[in-house]
Formats: sequence, C-alpha cells, structure tokens
Amino acid sequence: MPVRGAAPEQRPGRQRALGGEVNPAFLQALGAIAGEGLITSPGELRTYECDGLAAYRVVPGAVVLPSTADEVQAIVRLCAREHVAFVARGSGTGLSGGALPVEGGIVISLTRMNRILDLDIPNARVVVEPGVVNATVSQRVAPYGYFYAPDPSSQSVCTIGGNIAENSGGAHCLKYGFTTTHVLALDVVLPDGSLVQLGANTLDPLGYDLPGVFVGSEGTLGVATQVTLRIVKRPEVIQTLLAAFDSTHAAGAAVSDIIASGILPAAIEMMDRLAIQAAEAAVHAGYPECGGLLLVELDGPAAEVEALMAQVRERCLFQQASEVRVAQSEAERMVIWKGRKAAFAAMGRISPNYIVQDGVIPRTALPAVMDEIARMSERVGLRVANVFHAGDGNLHPLVLYDRRIQGQEQEAEELAGEILKLCVRVGGSITGEHGVGADKKMFMSEMFAEPDLQTMQLVRCAFDPDHLSNPGKVFPRTPLCAERPGPYVPHPLEISGEAQLF
Ligand SMILES: Cc1cc2nc3c(=O)[nH]c(=O)nc-3n(C[C@H](O)[C@H](O)[C@H](O)COP(=O)(O)OP(=O)(O)OC[C@H]3O[C@@H](n4cnc5c(N)ncnc54)[C@H](O)[C@@H]3O)c2cc1C
Repeated sequence: MPVRGAAPEQRPGRQRALGGEVNPAFLQALGAIAGEGLITSPGELRTYECDGLAAYRVVPGAVVLPSTADEVQAIVRLCAREHVAFVARGSGTGLSGGALPVEGGIVISLTRMNRILDLDIPNARVVVEPGVVNATVSQRVAPYGYFYAPDPSSQSVCTIGGNIAENSGGAHCLKYGFTTTHVLALDVVLPDGSLVQLGANTLDPLGYDLPGVFVGSEGTLGVATQVTLRIVKRPEVIQTLLAAFDSTHAAGAAVSDIIASGILPAAIEMMDRLAIQAAEAAVHAGYPECGGLLLVELDGPAAEVEALMAQVRERCLFQQASEVRVAQSEAERMVIWKGRKAAFAAMGRISPNYIVQDGVIPRTALPAVMDEIARMSERVGLRVANVFHAGDGNLHPLVLYDRRIQGQEQEAEELAGEILKLCVRVGGSITGEHGVGADKKMFMSEMFAEPDLQTMQLVRCAFDPDHLSNPGKVFPRTPLCAERPGPYVPHPLEISGEAQLF
C-alpha cells in the first residue's frame, strides 16, 4: 500500500509486473520476431526509462521496435504466452508516466510504424499507423484544404498512438473536440494477441462505442496498430486576437463572458504574468506585459469571423482589457502561437525545476480558482505560472521550484496535489488531457467512488484479464479480474489513519 509522500523508489510507477520474466529464451524469441528492432543493451534501454515525467524511472527488460502490425501481434502473443507485461510507447512525451516501463516487462515502441496508409479526401478521412507524428497528418492533407484538428502543443513530436491513448487535446479542441471526436476506427492487438477492428469507416457505426472505450484508455487495453482519423476542411478565414488584462481573474471573467454570449471560438488560451515572461524570454512573441493575457482565435467564413471578432473585442473591453489587438498577418499570428506553444518548455528560463499540473474546472469557476491558486502559491512560498486552455477550463498550473533546496520538491508536489483537489472540489477533474498514468492514480479516489472504479475495472478486465497491458497505471489498486464487484472493505490501517489507499 503506497503512502503519500513516499520516497521516489516507492512511488506508484515502480510497480513490479506479476508473472513471467525477460529471460534469455524470451529475448531470443523477441529477436526472432523483430530482428535488429530489439534493444537489450543497458545504455540504450535507459533511453526508454521514463516519458516526459522524468520523476519516475524504470529501466525496461527490453525494448522492441516492430515495423508491422503482424510483428506487434507476434510480440504481444509471446508476452501473453510467457506472462510478461508490456507497455506501448509513442514518442514518450506523455506527462503522467503513461509510457513508464514496468519492472520485469518490455516496452513496445511504435515509432517505426509511421506510414500514412491512405488519404481518402472525398470522405474526409485518413488511415495512419500509430507512430505517425500528429503534425504530419495536417501537413499531408494541407494541399487538399484539410487539417487534423486535435493539436497538442507537443504536436511536432507526439504520435497519433499516444494521442489516442491519452485522448489528447489542444488549443483548437474547444471548437473541434478532443481526439475521441476524430477517431472513426482502430485496429488493435488485444493483450491476448488477437487483432481486432474497433469501430467502422462509416459515421454512424452500430453497437457498442468501442473506439470510444479504447480512446483514453492509456495503453491498458492493448496496442493500436492502425487508426482511421477524421480530417476537417480548413476554414476560409482565421483571426487571432490578443487581449491584456490586469489579472487572471479579469481574463477568466472575459472567457466566461465570451462563451456565455453564444460565441464558440476555435481557441481561447490564457497566460499569466510568469508564463508571459518565460515565453517572451524564449520566443519574443511581442506579448504585452500584463497579469492575464487571452489569445482568442476565431475561424470560419470571412463575414462571420469579422462580425464575431467585433463582439469578442467588445466583451474583452467590457471586462476591462487594457489592450486588444488582432494579428495583422499570418506571420504575426504564427509568432503569437509560437509563444504559447513554447511556454511549457520556456519555464526553464525562469525556474530550475517545475511540475506541470493538468486539471479541469467549470469555465465559470475560472476567476475564483485563479485567485485561490494565487493564495495557495503565496501560502506555500512557491511561484505558480499558469498557461492553459481557458475555453475548456483545462488548467495547466506550473509549480516552480528548485530541487537543490532541501524539501522544496516535496512542497511543490504537495502544492500541485492540492491544486488538483481544488479542481475536484469545484466540480472539475484531475486531468484534462495528460492522463492519469502512474502519476495521478492516487487521486482517482478523490474523484470516483469505489463502484465507479469497479465499473471501469470491469472494462479493463474484459480486455486484459491478466493485466499485461501497461499494468499498474490509472487505477489506484489492481484487483484480480476474478474478484467479484462488491462493496469495498477498507484495510484496518486505512481505518486507523496510518496508511492511505491510492
Ligand atoms: C511540451 C509538451 C506539451 C504538451 N502539450 C500537450 C497538449 O497541449 N495537449 C495534450 O493532450 N498533451 C500534451 N502533452 C502531453 C503529450 O504530448 C501527449 O499526451 C501525447 O499524446 C503523448 O504522445 P506520445 O506519442 O509521446 O505518447 P507516449 O508518451 O509515448 O505514450 C503515452 C501513452 O500512450 C500509450 N500508447 C502509445 N502508443 C500507443 C499505441 N499505439 N497503442 C496503445 N497505447 C499507446 C502509452 O502506453 C502511454 O500510456 C504535452 C507534452 C509536452 C512534453
């Protein structure tokens, strides 16, 4: 039973896989499947020991890089036969330890499966392998006047497979919907090694929404080997407005106001003073100096965008914006976005270390929650920068700290956790787009009652009864699949308050 504040080596990611082992015979069988796509040298294995959340590290028993769905199937079948756990991996940009290896298990890296298999422009869909990088899809369909809408800030690196597992979002998901809205069908190798197709190429498939189940399942239901994606026609006009406010409180009020007035922008992003400073230092985007900056993008037919942009400007001025300006050229628009997309990485310019948090709140709670985060930050004495998808209420507080100062990392983690609990208290969620992974499973019980978690486990067990596919992630505990759902019986240590079940 892990305890809050446990030392790194006791943290949830370091869960040992139950069952088989990566022994020489197993490695030989893997090599027979993947040839030179098998990595076993200790130095190279370390490249895969973590994802974008480097606080958790586990060196895998082996890494295998298949080139085809047949190879994935053969690898997973071997794992099932030998009872070895596996973790699918895209580019490893995940921020919740989703692709963190499992001790005694292997990593299946999908980066070699990076072909676009079909462009079906008349039906507005493309078929891709999971290792295709997100931005590549838009680049390939751009000559036909289309784009792929979900646009994580990591889109120049992250893969469609990772996006699907995390149900990734991005600035433009406010209007166009998250990854799940754009997935029509999937080929998936299930944890027993069978290859199935979920969904269909039609827009109104019958039966259970199994693509909906798989999207967002964080690698716990099998390995996606092929994906049919919806693409979207490029709008006639895109315009981007910058509005400067004294505070995030005022900027938050403007966000609620714009949406309540019936306008659905393509994106509304917010940056606070610290985030602006960091982005300016890195990219020189020309942002105004202010306490809260909104970046509002509208797209659609020219006449509509012009009329709505006038209304957005009016709403911002009504909420006391000190400056409102619209990008006058495509180049200026690109620089504005470059600053926003570089903001996470730019934090290194103003702080030696930082924790990227990801939570969701109802949009209307933005002003109150921004104020409360500022109070919490002051109380603990650690700076918190905010740069986030304000239109969705998807916060990304960045807790800044210095690891060299004793105890500060622990304080930063506690503050990041308290912010998540605040999100739940106001009716939000513990993650918007980065997933639960290894990092947040201890917070699942803050949000879900035991019967809710058991229902999710029923789905997990239907796909993966032996818990071989990314075990130890998402769920606060791993029941045996033969366990019958029923009332949760707390451990005596929980009742006495000596330990807490995550
Ligand atoms: C600077 C930065 C900015 C970011 N901005 C955003 C953002 O705006 N929005 C957002 O949503 N995220 C963002 N992220 C997080 C991250 O980029 C996304 O979660 C992304 O989808 C991960 O893709 P990946 O290819 O790197 O996947 P990985 O990190 O390799 O894996 C993520 C999860 O997907 C599973 N997985 C990977 N491939 C498959 C497959 N083929 N089948 C089944 N499971 C699979 C893994 O097991 C793991 O659980 C950001 C990260 C960084 C570092």
